[in-house]
Amino acid sequence: MDEKFDVIVVGAGPAGTACAYELAKAGLKVIMFERGEYPGSKNVMGGVLYRKQMEEIIPEFWKEAPLERPVVEQRFWMMDEESMVTMGYKGLEWAKEPYNNFTVLRAKFDQWFAQKAVEQGALLINETVVEACIVEDNRVVGVRTDRPDGDVYADVVVLADGVNSLLAKQLGFHKEWRPDEVALAVMEVLKLPSEKIEDRFNLEPDQGCTIEMFGDVTKGILGTAFLYTNKESVNIGVGTTLSGLMKAKIRPYDLLEYVKNHPMVKPLLEGNESQEYAAHLIPEGGYNSIPKIVGNGVVVVGDAAHLVNAIHREGSNMAMASGRMAAETIITAREVNDFSENMLDSYRVRLMDSFVGQDLKKYKDTTHTFEHHPQYFKEYIPMLNRAAGQMFTVDGTPKKQKQKEILRSMTENRGKLGVLQDLYRAWKVMK
Ligand SMILES: Cc1cc2nc3c(=O)[nH]c(=O)nc-3n(C[C@H](O)[C@H](O)[C@H](O)COP(=O)(O)OP(=O)(O)OC[C@H]3O[C@@H](n4cnc5c(N)ncnc54)[C@H](O)[C@@H]3O)c2cc1C
Repeated sequence: MDEKFDVIVVGAGPAGTACAYELAKAGLKVIMFERGEYPGSKNVMGGVLYRKQMEEIIPEFWKEAPLERPVVEQRFWMMDEESMVTMGYKGLEWAKEPYNNFTVLRAKFDQWFAQKAVEQGALLINETVVEACIVEDNRVVGVRTDRPDGDVYADVVVLADGVNSLLAKQLGFHKEWRPDEVALAVMEVLKLPSEKIEDRFNLEPDQGCTIEMFGDVTKGILGTAFLYTNKESVNIGVGTTLSGLMKAKIRPYDLLEYVKNHPMVKPLLEGNESQEYAAHLIPEGGYNSIPKIVGNGVVVVGDAAHLVNAIHREGSNMAMASGRMAAETIITAREVNDFSENMLDSYRVRLMDSFVGQDLKKYKDTTHTFEHHPQYFKEYIPMLNRAAGQMFTVDGTPKKQKQKEILRSMTENRGKLGVLQDLYRAWKVMK
């Protein structure tokens, strides 16, 4: 393939497709390579897609996109072995336009989204692995694919190849991620009749909910388990830092089985049929792990640029926003025919000024802090459960005495000063 394109996009996930869509819409000649049989075939996601960033690309997409359920309730469960303390929010305003977010199955959604980019004029080539960037005179000028006639040239190459981003690594933009910079997540799609989902999760037929679980379900390792409702299935999964898993010597699929069999979870899944199983890394190092994302003739977007807000489980929206901003920068660069690092750097500046950079900066020390102070997940969540159990058990003990006992047991292990330090530290990294 000797043809030259304006832009080559590597990877047809949310970041790559968002970028290809915007570029093609602006009339640029775009080619997008995807190693999977089709977009979405290799993608793994808990399944919450955010309306706002998708709508900025395709207004009112919910009228035609293959979505599962609009999420009307977000639940948070702080779990011990046989108990949990819960909180959450249910809002019926989320059940109607313009909605807040949706559950999706990526195999369906990504195919649809990539097709929209094709309708705008992008050329999508599936089942093709980009093996390397072609670099001439310190400038990326194209890519080498695994096809026999596989060299393709362009003014700009967009690396949207996901968390591992071997291509950015080859360019020296980042090193191998450390085990505390990535989470390993495993998930399963479990088929369940829609009426059972609605009964068990207290939902109307056109409503969905998400449950994030902390504490015992990850055996105290930094991470979360999740359970999301689709139309006729639920997605259940668990993700923890790779370093935490290695330290605890727990296999991820054993952890998922543990979650599925937790007494608070098991009844919700009864009678399910397993449909799909997948494992994937999530870039969770946050702001401090963002690598170099711009070079001469090249930009990096989405997971490849380490853009995930683990605290709010936002990744697909940051991927789309970065893809869109990269496209807008490339369109401007083309007007002046300048694809240098200097020119393309305005993508990085815009990204860092946007909610993406600001949110990642806000939580920049969170993962690291919670990883190095395991007491938050290991000690405080069980403590909270014991306190709630004690307070809500009516046994004739005066409430004031209960309060005293709870406070005493809370400071028993770490001491009053230790607890105050822990509270201050948590406030500092979350504020
Ligand atoms: C278990 C799990 C749960 C998650 N839950 C959520 C959630 O609920 N909400 C949310 O917003 N985010 C969630 N995320 C994060 C979210 O999935 C990612 O942030 C998002 O998919 C990033 O999009 P991307 O396009 O950058 O990368 P990806 O979706 O990983 O897409 C990269 C694409 O590039 C292709 N590719 C890679 N290398 C090459 C190559 N050399 N040549 C050609 N093609 C290549 C891949 O096949 C893939 O299609 C979750 C992630 C995991 C693992």
